[in-house]
Amino acid sequence: MSESVICGIPYKDFLIRVEEFHGYRSPGILLGGIMVENALRELGPTPYLNVVTETVVCLPDAVQLLTPCTIGNGFLQILDWGKFALTAYDRMTLNGVRVWLNYERMADYPLINSWFDRSTENRQKPVFEEIAKEILSATSNLINHRSVRLYRALKISQRKPTGLCPKCGESYPLDHGPTCTSCQGEAYYE
Ligand SMILES: [Zn+2]
Repeated sequence: MSESVICGIPYKDFLIRVEEFHGYRSPGILLGGIMVENALRELGPTPYLNVVTETVVCLPDAVQLLTPCTIGNGFLQILDWGKFALTAYDRMTLNGVRVWLNYERMADYPLINSWFDRSTENRQKPVFEEIAKEILSATSNLINHRSVRLYRALKISQRKPTGLCPKCGESYPLDHGPTCTSCQGEAYYE
């Protein structure tokens, strides 16, 4: 187990990086890391790498930990679809590889299976070291992949015209309406 390598990073170092970046050791980041590794391996050398994840949990952190794609630089997009899947692609060629989990084979991995199963109420949090052992032994066995072609690059590169909100005086994209989103009643603060 200790000789496992995730995206070129020895397992022990990977765990340290996970703790630094994500705050704690998480099965989702480990599984996500192996998914990222699979996608990049299948995709081959990609000068203009972008990634899109189909869930807001775990996978975005695995991508940011292991690739140059981040939320802030726009090369990582996050879809709130609740699906544990991601696509790595070249934003110039639009050729990509989507990876997702093989839910049929998951039955062979009881800890991963129950960790994923949100149907039962008394779902127990697994001990990380135990489920990690299963994830590392499963490796690519649990991960499906296929080549995909994107309709378009997902990074929003068009600059929108901005102006000052007449209510709060802050700058906002004018296509949001006559005032900024916050002043339209969407504020998350008092
Ligand atoms: Zn405003």
